[in-house]
Amino acid sequence: MPWIDKNRCDGCEICIEECPVGAIFMIEGKAEIDMENCIRCGTCHKICPQNASRHDSEKIPEEIEENINWVKNLLAHYETEKEREAFLKRIKKHFQKEIKVNEKTLEKIEDLL
Ligand code: SF4
Ligand code: SF4
Repeated sequence: MPWIDKNRCDGCEICIEECPVGAIFMIEGKAEIDMENCIRCGTCHKICPQNASRHDSEKIPEEIEENINWVKNLLAHYETEKEREAFLKRIKKHFQKEIKVNEKTLEKIEDLL
């Protein structure tokens, strides 16, 4: 999913003109993408002169950090080593379930072709 790097965006509005579904708007002189309406066409990546429309993959480290912080916050509610171990086991199952969902989704996407 695309996202706008506000530090690169100079507010030229070219992406607003080129987005085929009108999913980009301006907030305080910077482009913003309405993810509900974005159809992931990739046009904004190609046409932005500042390279401000960025790819999702760049957010992987940030998302991992958010996950770890979430787990740490939950872990703080458990006092004994036994409780903490049991919690970590459960939370790993949660992320393993996410892997399965994504793997199965990828398989089904292949069937759409
Ligand atoms: S084309 Fe790029 S620099 Fe111009 S408004 Fe869109 S994101 Fe910002
Ligand atoms: S990926 Fe396509 S639909 Fe989504 S914001 Fe960019 S130009 Fe618009």
